[in-house]
Amino acid sequence: MNATKIIHAIPSDPLTGAISVPVYQTSTFIQEAPGVNKGFDYARSNNPTRKTLEDLVAKLENGHAGFAFSTGLAGIDAVLKTLSFGDEIVAVDDIYGGAYRLFTHVYEKLGIKVKYVDTTDLDNVAQAITTRTRLIWIESPTNPTLKVSDIAGIAKIAKSVKALLVVDNTFASPIAQQPIDLGADIVIHSGTKYIGGHSDLVAGLVVTKTSELSEKIKFIQNASGAVLGPWDCFLTIRGIETLDLRYKKQCENAIKVADFLVNHEAVGEVHFPGLVTHKNHDIARKQQNGLFGGIVSFSLKNDTQEAAVAFVTSTKYFKLAESLGGVKSLLCHPAQMTHASIPREIRLRSGIKESLIRLSCGVEEGADLVSDLGQAFQQVTHKRGAIFI
Ligand SMILES: *Cc1c(COP(=O)(O)O)cnc(C)c1O
Repeated sequence: MNATKIIHAIPSDPLTGAISVPVYQTSTFIQEAPGVNKGFDYARSNNPTRKTLEDLVAKLENGHAGFAFSTGLAGIDAVLKTLSFGDEIVAVDDIYGGAYRLFTHVYEKLGIKVKYVDTTDLDNVAQAITTRTRLIWIESPTNPTLKVSDIAGIAKIAKSVKALLVVDNTFASPIAQQPIDLGADIVIHSGTKYIGGHSDLVAGLVVTKTSELSEKIKFIQNASGAVLGPWDCFLTIRGIETLDLRYKKQCENAIKVADFLVNHEAVGEVHFPGLVTHKNHDIARKQQNGLFGGIVSFSLKNDTQEAAVAFVTSTKYFKLAESLGGVKSLLCHPAQMTHASIPREIRLRSGIKESLIRLSCGVEEGADLVSDLGQAFQQVTHKRGAIFI
């Protein structure tokens, strides 16, 4: 969907002509007679503001239906609740820390087995699946090492055992990538990130490919009740109005930042799908419409937590905080922040080095972001001697 289509997919209010979507701040809806209503009865089951958002994200992802949850993890949780005791999941090893915690500490206990593999190699996925595999769970690009998996290739493997492919599309956003068009069955977003885009809300979005899956998720959404409130639905819709604009600017800024980092003497590895040296650069280019996202992560030559902490506390525009995808640039140290819930050995195995730093480029001037990083390197080197080299 291009920017024109996105903006005009947001309806104006037929009742009053209001150009922006009304916030229906109500818990219940008056019925003419028991069971006779205007399509809404109770706000956990449905709400007009939420419905507008849900229909919009279904369109953005080319799916059958969309569902809005209170957080990204609540959306992930709803998908997991479609499983039964004994079912298996094959998941990307560099999975979002919160998803790892939910899988391991909540669902494994309930009899769901999860195998983590490096899904950037199709052979690993093919070897990990069994007849009990119900879901293949990937993120592409991943958080924080920006691994890219071949969605169409994995969709074929999923079909061979009648498993569903779930793609967490948070990093690519619907501007860059439509996993359902590539063969995925369910798409997930942390609406907290690019879709909301202003670091002012937490939200989760799930989009399903078929009416059968839509019914299942709708049932769980209502049964478990972790819905997104009307005001946050309104803010998320407002975020979507500028998603195309913001995302493309963030992608441009990330290219400038990655170019700067690869040439800096204190930097070890740079992870960014836009670099020709990235393992699956060609797949990223193809399946992400030539957009590589606004996230860049890198390690330091001095691969210690101490060096990373010195760096992340020396930037001016990149604010030290969890989360990503907003208009303001952020940075974080995954080993101590977003990914602290993953045991050290597993973290290191999936490439999250001690000094790994994740940058989320905002919509500031690219040159200002680059000079902010430059001054941070200088400041730290000056204060701490040759800590980086
Ligand atoms: C943040 C994030 C989530 C979780 O979303 P919340 O809104 O924080 O619950 C899931 N997946 C990815 C890739 C994320 O970055």
